[in-house]
Amino acid sequence: MNYFEKVNALCALTDRTPTVKKICFDMDGTLADLYGVENWLEMLRASDPTPYIFAQPMFDPNELVDLLNIAVENGNEVEIITWLSKDSTPEYDEMVRVAKKIWLEIFEIPYTAFHGVKYGATKADSIRKEMNWQECETAILFDDNAKVRRGWHMGEAYDPVESDICEVLREILGM
Ligand SMILES: [Mg+2]
Repeated sequence: MNYFEKVNALCALTDRTPTVKKICFDMDGTLADLYGVENWLEMLRASDPTPYIFAQPMFDPNELVDLLNIAVENGNEVEIITWLSKDSTPEYDEMVRVAKKIWLEIFEIPYTAFHGVKYGATKADSIRKEMNWQECETAILFDDNAKVRRGWHMGEAYDPVESDICEVLREILGM
């Protein structure tokens, strides 16, 4: 049984409802339109982190930021779990982390934790230790990568192309 299956089984047995503790976001292709930046791949391969800063947001910044602020006020943790560049060195990884944090600051995305992890890393590993299935806690993820969504199993995983992020958040916040 994976984590989410355990939560669901426990909730069914005890007539409880799973609660969303963490709201997690991928960045590239989910929040930030990295792939829409001209020459992004050539630039990343040349260890130039600026495409991460210049990417356009893929959402209405005001609406999402308002909802995330409400989520944080309500006690939800907002976490960014994003892969670093495929071509990596410790120095470049650090530049990418900084670039991604600058982007989050530009659009005033409130977040409680930032995980810049190795390309291909299992995203659930970033938060697993902070989750308690016996309390029926779940963590949802928005990620454009189907393989990442399939491997999540800490809670629901949403495709940001199919699901409207703000609509999902409004539902979770009971708005
Ligand atoms: Mg992505």
